[in-house]
Amino acid sequence: MTDPQAAAARAGPTPPGLAPGGLLERLLEGLPHAAWLARLDNRRIVAANREAVRWFAGDGDPPSALTDRPADAVAASPEDLAWWLGAELGDRSPLYSDTLVGTSDGRTRPVSRSIRVVELPLAPGGEPVALALVTVEDRSADAQLQAQREELLSELQGTLEATADGILVTDLAGRLRVFNRRFAEMFDLPDALLQQRDDAALRDRLVARLAEPGADARRLLALAPESTAAERFVLVGGRVLERVARPLMQDGRGSGCVWSYRDLTERLAAEHRIETLSHTDPLTGLANRGRLAEHVRSLLELPGDPAGGDGVPSLSLLVVDLDRFGHINDTLGHAIGNDVLLDVAQRIQGCLRKGDLLARVGGDQFAIVVSPADAAFAEKLAARVLAEIKKPCNVGGAQFTLTCSIGVALAPSHGRDADQLMRRAEQAMRAVKGSGRANWRLHQARTEVDWRSHMRLDHAMRQALVANRFRLNYQPQVCVETGAVTGAEALLRWRDPEMGEIPPSRFIKVAEDSGFIVQLGEWVLHTAVGQAARWHAQGRPLPVAVNVSALQFQQAHFVERVAEALAVAGIPPRLLELELTESILLHDEAGDVLSRLEALARLGVQMSIDDFGTGYSSLAYLKRIPVSKLKIDRAFVAGLPDDEGNAAIVRAILQMARALGKLVIAEGVETEAQRRFLRDSGCDEFQGFLFAPALDVLSFEQRLPAVPTPRPDTPRRRPPRIRLVSG
Ligand code: C2E
Ligand code: CA
Ligand code: CA
Repeated sequence: MTDPQAAAARAGPTPPGLAPGGLLERLLEGLPHAAWLARLDNRRIVAANREAVRWFAGDGDPPSALTDRPADAVAASPEDLAWWLGAELGDRSPLYSDTLVGTSDGRTRPVSRSIRVVELPLAPGGEPVALALVTVEDRSADAQLQAQREELLSELQGTLEATADGILVTDLAGRLRVFNRRFAEMFDLPDALLQQRDDAALRDRLVARLAEPGADARRLLALAPESTAAERFVLVGGRVLERVARPLMQDGRGSGCVWSYRDLTERLAAEHRIETLSHTDPLTGLANRGRLAEHVRSLLELPGDPAGGDGVPSLSLLVVDLDRFGHINDTLGHAIGNDVLLDVAQRIQGCLRKGDLLARVGGDQFAIVVSPADAAFAEKLAARVLAEIKKPCNVGGAQFTLTCSIGVALAPSHGRDADQLMRRAEQAMRAVKGSGRANWRLHQARTEVDWRSHMRLDHAMRQALVANRFRLNYQPQVCVETGAVTGAEALLRWRDPEMGEIPPSRFIKVAEDSGFIVQLGEWVLHTAVGQAARWHAQGRPLPVAVNVSALQFQQAHFVERVAEALAVAGIPPRLLELELTESILLHDEAGDVLSRLEALARLGVQMSIDDFGTGYSSLAYLKRIPVSKLKIDRAFVAGLPDDEGNAAIVRAILQMARALGKLVIAEGVETEAQRRFLRDSGCDEFQGFLFAPALDVLSFEQRLPAVPTPRPDTPRRRPPRIRLVSG
């Protein structure tokens, strides 16, 4: 190794041509970056420009400040030292790399530094000497920009990962810029494609995942969306993706496209199950109540047949209810009970002609629609069904005999729509039950005696309201997961001094028939809202749910009445929840119901659908209405978890509610097993005897903790944070 000091001695003093302002310095001054020349033989700097002096000596130092300094002390990265060592051994190949240098102000800067060898005479006319020309370009600004870019990218990546959708970003040329993990999962991309960027392989993979690449590949790989509408793709294995595309904007100009993919598979399956469930009974596969109503409607819309007269076709509706079926369930168990129902369905089916419809409309209740059919035909059919059911049964090794009670209603004489006919046939059936069962009966207009008791009850109710004899009890609504009370349903109670305690199941119907329910409902609304206000004032902002009858809802000024009640009590509107039945929502051809619901929603009150599952709301309608909660009817909760039919319905309702973003509460929960089933199936809240029956205010308050728990909000998908504009 050569000693640089000795080499310097051999080279002698700095020649006069290199004095300040000399040729080489002027040349170096013309370079855009810090630069200097150093002799290869002794490593000493012979000339430097002002920028180099500013960096490595000091601001304001003379241009000669670096002269004679060892070159490998100025830029001293290991790479630099290695280069000098190599140069000494005869390797004169240039060095160009990004590195860090320490400058005289004590900072370390990122730079691009180059060293190359030039042969130059140090003095005019002198021998050329090997010199290293070193230039150092400041990269601090670039590095900062890069850091910013990386931060932005990781922020963007974080945003992408935070969305539930699969997201792919392409540039204007269709290059795949970035995608999130969800996207990779959806298309089942192999790890190799995640680690190494390979657009062609990635495109091939995407196309390979399509169930119908021939039809869909072009659409999938399009550079730009053909429209802003959502598109669907079916993948191998049947999953369905929905894609929407939005332009990606950068500095106000389109720079590519953001494609977001949503997996619709579960939602579509839930919709399909609901659509099926909405017209079939899961246990027997027969039509259900909704399908029956549709069938009756379509028959009554047909042009009249001569037998029907009146221009309306003749039709008989028979409601068949098994007698004491509860015993079978209790003694032989649900599984055998279900087999018995299947057996009964088969027997009834055997009595029917082609074109007649058999439906299961309740646990042990069936209905038959026959048309054309007059009273005489219905009588013959009822007798046949009675006889067939009476034949001995042998199910699951048990021998027994069943009977049934049948009620019959005829169209057009007893009614002209499904609801009315159903009600009348059920009434007739209950009359059979009341007079000893195992028989059939045709609907009869209400008897004189019925009318009297009806009117007496109506009169007594009107007096009771004036005398303030109605009261409201409150049934706690509870979070299924935590057991915290989240709300209360107001339920009417009435004790008459003579008749004693009369259950709402008896008086509400009468009040609905006479129209008194409007006044009564008004009282309930004010009383319940008043109670909510008292709880609110006590620091317990507990929502109160109020039952609303159809007639009350249809009143011209219903929305104003609700607004008034809230204003009088002075509570936040969200503390009032209106429980609406499906029957309120059913007939909305003109959209009046929808606009009323929207007005209530604007008011800020909550709405739920009571007795959900017993009606037949169409899924399309449910999607449109601003109702935040579905209340699963007691009837479906009753058999849980063993009754497979009910379990299937409850699961389907929960699945659908999730897809629609609605909360679900189950009513009539009496056992821990029911609660556990509901919790495991994802139900939000419940009410029922398991926690508490409807309680008077004092008992209710005793069940409340000192600090109330807030009710969870309707779950909503958070929109992605990416900056998009709709095209
Ligand atoms: P609903 O709205 O379905 O009310 C729930 C009914 O189930 C209540 O009967 C409640 O006491 C009962 N219940 C609660 N938990 C359980 C349980 O675990 N098991 C069983 N088997 N039953 C349970 P209630 O109070 O007799 O009310 C009957 C119906 O009367 C109500 O049914 C509702 O349709 C109507 N109703 C009650 N209050 C009002 C009211 O203020 N306005 C209107 N329009 N209708 C009302
Ligand atoms: Ca209710
Ligand atoms: Ca209910």
